[in-house]
Amino acid sequence: MSEPEPETETSTATNRMGRVLLVGAGPGPADLMTVRAQQAVKTAQALLYDALVAGEVLELAAAACVKIETGKRAGRASMSQDAINALMLSLARRGLEVVRLKGGDPSVFGRSGEETAFLARHGVEVEVIPGVTAASAAAAQFGFPLTHRSQARRLVFATARVEHGVLAPESWPALTDPEATLALYMARDSLAVVGQALIAAGRAPDTAALAVENAGRPEARLIRADLAALAAAVQSAGCTGPVVIVVGDVAALAEAGQGGDKACATPP
Ligand code: SAH
Repeated sequence: MSEPEPETETSTATNRMGRVLLVGAGPGPADLMTVRAQQAVKTAQALLYDALVAGEVLELAAAACVKIETGKRAGRASMSQDAINALMLSLARRGLEVVRLKGGDPSVFGRSGEETAFLARHGVEVEVIPGVTAASAAAAQFGFPLTHRSQARRLVFATARVEHGVLAPESWPALTDPEATLALYMARDSLAVVGQALIAAGRAPDTAALAVENAGRPEARLIRADLAALAAAVQSAGCTGPVVIVVGDVAALAEAGQGGDKACATPP
């Protein structure tokens, strides 16, 4: 779908342009959202939500709110980014308060930059409301920090999505820094390749590492292993939910989570 042309005037009956709020829903439970994010969902007139957004968050919305799923769930295809952009624009042009609700934090692998730029180009007011990102939720739930004095001085958020099966070698120096905690998103299914690539690029094979599936939710699972063994441990755990990977010394400090024995620990 091609991008709609900017309009010089609004086409609403009220002649009032709506706005779009890019809202972080956090990792799942509604009480891990900010008060501002909850308020935005409660007062939304149109809600566009991703597949990672939990049902209890959607239930905050008013019965009259138009709710549109944009992510894939139950085998249905995701909407393209162009279609999502066009939809946000047309709803805002109808004068509606539009909430674009995303899992975690909209600014972390949430396309908030692209969507903000698109809406601004079309004269739509945008506000971003932050959320708890998956790595923070995992750290809180399983009792480890993301930075740690004198051990983990830097924190790198990275995606391990492997485009066309090829890893971009330019990024490896930042990822193999032994004083950096590496939080890897979208890495569940490419972990074997990514783990090997990190080791080949210089990260020690016995670096502490972990995976958290469904971070922040009651059903969260912790899988611990050293970097060399993590991919096999994750595979044998049979994760089907979202997984965030943490590589670095801080992973050795993780322990079974709040609210029960959900750890499948394979200690390094
Ligand atoms: N904006 C989101 C990230 C979106 S990218 C955030 O800030 O968390 C999607 C990836 O995020 C997933 O593939 C997974 O790696 C991670 N993720 C999102 N929610 C998660 C959760 N509850 N538990 C573990 N990982 C999660």
